[in-house]
Amino acid sequence: MTKKIAVLPGDGIGPEIITEAVKVLDYLNADMDLGLVFENGLIGGAAYDVHATPFPQQTLDLARQSDAILLGAVGGYKWESLDISVRPEKGLLGLRSELQLFANLRPAILYPQLVDASTLKPEVVSGFDIMIIRELTGGIYFGQPRGVRLLENGEKQGYNTLVYSESEIRRIAHVAFQTAQKRNRRLCSVDKANVLECTELWRQVVTETGKQYPEVELSHMYVDNAAMQLVRAPKQFDVLVTTNMFGDILSDISAMLTGSIGMLPSASLDANNKGMYEPIHGSAPDIAGKGIANPLATILSAAMMLRYSFNQNEAAERIEQAVNAALNANIRTADIYSDGMQKIGASAMGDAVISALKERA
Ligand code: NAD
Repeated sequence: MTKKIAVLPGDGIGPEIITEAVKVLDYLNADMDLGLVFENGLIGGAAYDVHATPFPQQTLDLARQSDAILLGAVGGYKWESLDISVRPEKGLLGLRSELQLFANLRPAILYPQLVDASTLKPEVVSGFDIMIIRELTGGIYFGQPRGVRLLENGEKQGYNTLVYSESEIRRIAHVAFQTAQKRNRRLCSVDKANVLECTELWRQVVTETGKQYPEVELSHMYVDNAAMQLVRAPKQFDVLVTTNMFGDILSDISAMLTGSIGMLPSASLDANNKGMYEPIHGSAPDIAGKGIANPLATILSAAMMLRYSFNQNEAAERIEQAVNAALNANIRTADIYSDGMQKIGASAMGDAVISALKERA
């Protein structure tokens, strides 16, 4: 049976890194007869330029008809002055929300070969391997009311709303506990329950849900402390679960622990494991078009797609091992470069992963 993948390259380095991920998938598709078929669509600024919206109906239809979505990144200087309602990021938020992709899984692993690329001391980060689970379709990024209003005194006031219902918290908590069950059975829920009522409810519902998972050790931490602990002693964590905005920020911190944001993949899943797979980084307009972006986060996102949406564990592992082998060959894109290594671009990194796949076939 064929499995259809909607490919949405997006903006900036999006098309460059997606080309490499599709190249890797194409090779495995032929080698393992995976039955993957690809169809491209527009999102973000690229969609705005053609359809005057960052999230065209055709793209939503394509995403709905597909078994999984592979996305590059959206955004860039060119669209920054547009009204917020049609900025590229709205396309991505719209897709997450329309498809109810509420569970964002962000594994952060430090490859031993990249210990020198991390800004932290080797003894603090070596062996670092955590999973951040970020709620993705609720919280302050979606809460209403929102906007900028004019006060009676003539001053403008910006406002957003942090809102979570019990059911939204419960469903992400279940994903987090089940993920922890498959790892080292430790879950830390991150909130700001001392100040925000909404996250006080978060803490209560996560605690209640935890009663169904007695084998998972549950702890709670305030987000400011969690940010500090991630940098102070990151290996204390196994699985973290948190709200949309806190997860956004904490996963960028954990990205730096692994050496580069160009290494971190993600999966955004709905209740039936239909998913969208994308690197956690943005469209990197500062390096777009130069061919120097690191495609490994996107290639590793494709591996997550094979595992979570298509149950192709062997194919996923082959990609992960090939990435490891490519790093062992001492080649590096600029973001993870260190002395003594050979500096290469995105396309050569994609080729190196395919060579490693061939060698291990
Ligand atoms: P960014 O993640 O695009 O870039 C941050 C820094 O990391 C830049 O110096 C960039 O060059 C570098 N970087 C990112 N990915 C890299 C890669 N694969 N290889 C090498 N270096 C890489 O974040 P930003 O600069 O804050 O945002 C740029 C644009 O991306 C904005 O328009 C923002 O809204 C958008 N954005 C999109 C997403 C997404 O599509 N999921 C996520 C974050 C930001």
